[in-house]
Amino acid sequence: MGIIEKLLKKVVLQEATIEEKTKLSSAAYKIRLKSESIAKADFTPGYFLRLGIGIDNEDIPINDKVRSYSVWDINKSKGFLDIAIAAHSSGIGAAWAAQSKPGDTVYFKWKKGNFLVDDSADSYLMIGDLSALSHLYMINRSFSKQQQVAGIAYSQDRSELFPDVDGATPFTFYEMPPNPVPEIVEEVKKLVPKMKGRKIVYLAGDSRVCVALNQYFRKELQWDAKQVKTKPFWNPTKKGLE
Ligand SMILES: Cc1cc2nc3c(=O)[nH]c(=O)nc-3n(C[C@H](O)[C@H](O)[C@H](O)COP(=O)(O)OP(=O)(O)OC[C@H]3O[C@@H](n4cnc5c(N)ncnc54)[C@H](O)[C@@H]3O)c2cc1C
Repeated sequence: MGIIEKLLKKVVLQEATIEEKTKLSSAAYKIRLKSESIAKADFTPGYFLRLGIGIDNEDIPINDKVRSYSVWDINKSKGFLDIAIAAHSSGIGAAWAAQSKPGDTVYFKWKKGNFLVDDSADSYLMIGDLSALSHLYMINRSFSKQQQVAGIAYSQDRSELFPDVDGATPFTFYEMPPNPVPEIVEEVKKLVPKMKGRKIVYLAGDSRVCVALNQYFRKELQWDAKQVKTKPFWNPTKKGLE
């Protein structure tokens, strides 16, 4: 192992152990990480982790050793958190999710970002693919019962989409082709008129969909920048993101 990998492990990253791994569907895994530092974490829904999953593999170049995963659920008193990983990609993240097992050590770093819960609206629209589902669920669970929520969760195979940690399915599941911008816009046209008061949309997942829908809400619907929260999770021409 090179000096940079050693420094990353000892100085930059924290250590956690995989406590449980569950297959959520044919294309998604839930992984539970346990660590003393999770009990002390200052957490806001929307935080994610940078996981150094390729750190022990010398064949992977240093700039391709890390992937980001959103915190789906956290239990500070028991010192664990859950992440959900979509396995549609063919990269180190999907391979790690498939091969990892309880007892394995993982190196991670907390990331706050700005794709966080914003509870200032009366109604919300959550839009994302399989990779974004856990992030959108986490944010949705922080809204109050008075706040209205609708969601468009899509995948090429509807059965790949999984319920939230409490078994709830607060978003509608759709079977859609890759990069389904026109299909989503059709649904948005039906849902937006039903939204009451101050509105916010969350867009996450495929960067092509995020960019096109951000433009649609800002230009076509004339929504203010603060009403359109966007976070591309992956890009078809790139490895990892952020
Ligand atoms: C803030 C943030 C939070 C994230 N949270 C999550 C999360 O909670 N769960 C999660 O699954 N991912 C999440 N991601 C995406 C994740 O970090 C990886 O990019 C993803 O898992 C792919 O990694 P990989 O190493 O398997 O593939 P890569 O080596 O990154 O990519 C290999 C190929 O697969 C394609 N690809 C990547 N993702 C997908 C996909 N979902 N569907 C189809 N093709 C894809 C790439 O475009 C590329 O062509 C998040 C990303 C960010 C920036």
